[in-house]
Amino acid sequence: MKTDQEYLDLDKQLLWHPYTSMSQPSPHFLVKKAVGCDITLSDGRILIDGMSSWWSVIHGYNHPRINTAIQQQLTQLSHVMFGGLTHKPAIDLAETLIAISPGDLQRVFFSDSGSVSVEVGLKMAIQYWHTQGQPSKQFFVTPKSGYHGDTFAAMSVCDPDNGMHHLFSGALTQQFFISAPPTGLEAPIKPEYLHEIRAMFEANHAQLAGFIIEPVVQNAGGMRFYNPEYLNHIRALCDEFDILLIFDEIATGFGRTGKLFATDHTNICPDIMCVGKALTGGYMTLAATLTNDKVALGISENDGVFMHGPTFMGNPLACSAANASLSLLMRYNIPEKITQLENWMKTALAPCAKLEQVEEVRCFGGIGVVELKNSVNLHKIQPKFVELGVWIRPFGKLIYLMPPYVISQQQVQTLAKAIYQVVSEEPC
Ligand SMILES: *Cc1c(COP(=O)(O)O)cnc(C)c1O
Repeated sequence: MKTDQEYLDLDKQLLWHPYTSMSQPSPHFLVKKAVGCDITLSDGRILIDGMSSWWSVIHGYNHPRINTAIQQQLTQLSHVMFGGLTHKPAIDLAETLIAISPGDLQRVFFSDSGSVSVEVGLKMAIQYWHTQGQPSKQFFVTPKSGYHGDTFAAMSVCDPDNGMHHLFSGALTQQFFISAPPTGLEAPIKPEYLHEIRAMFEANHAQLAGFIIEPVVQNAGGMRFYNPEYLNHIRALCDEFDILLIFDEIATGFGRTGKLFATDHTNICPDIMCVGKALTGGYMTLAATLTNDKVALGISENDGVFMHGPTFMGNPLACSAANASLSLLMRYNIPEKITQLENWMKTALAPCAKLEQVEEVRCFGGIGVVELKNSVNLHKIQPKFVELGVWIRPFGKLIYLMPPYVISQQQVQTLAKAIYQVVSEEPC
């Protein structure tokens, strides 16, 4: 039997964690179990979860209904290839996704992760224009400050400055960038911004397959909230210039912004929509790319087939977790539940706005953000949060909460107090 310390030493020696160095790894904490909003470390300490494990564990950990769904599925079929074979969990899930997703999205492609669902969406757009006799339309336009994943095509549409472009320039397709949407959920629409998009479309539409954007909230690229009305205008411009509209709902989907999808804050619908993260309630890796008949049938013209097929496509265990998670979600009154969470975070985080170190505090739906004036040192700040009994993982200047929807007001208060204390100890 290895001791916990021996495990942690091995972890340091053998394992890469997200965005870390092998020679100077940041501290990692050994987790024994997690229930509800409590993460228990191997030394017995309990941390309140403010992250939903990167925004996915919306119903909390170890949920009895999702556990049961997976256990039942396990006795029937844990996996089978999706080429030539199919199964009820995938069909049920596709039916539900189509029923709850915005507008005329009618067709579903399952893949393993958010990044891959973005790759799939971009490939759909390129293949669509190919069958439509416009093979030069194979590039994408996207706002700065976006984040769409870490695989190559997804990276190519991430923010060119705070993303990873500088490391991979030459290896990445050069895409087209417009300014980030002006912030403020209710800020008046800036006509200059729409002019910038129009000018970009006018100059480059012959090469542009699609416009990809995170609707209403730009997440990992800066936790920026913008007026949903921009998306209505962007839809009209895309139609005018024959450019497909792709929404990346991987972070915002399944209730996070107070509606089932962030798209539901608009009165339009994208041609292609990517979902992931909370799809399985954070139990397993699964993502989906949804599209309308125009794109799906367009690709299929002249004996066309869509050229993608992951080994673990439509994994039955993951689909059964997703089916259970969505049926739980459908039982909520999402606007009520998420508005309550928003109000709890607003009240609890308000004192942080008075700290000298803080640039802005903003909340929207189940997202609470404390933006600092300076970037934090993660190596130093992470253990402080753990000492205070909370799990909060900042990045750059952003300390944020995206808790499971089942969190209590008291737990939100504990998270916010920890942020206040840790931030007040930061240099100004
Ligand atoms: C997390 C995220 C992705 C990438 O998803 P992975 O499952 O990590 O590959 C893509 N787009 C957005 C908006 C995300 O938040």
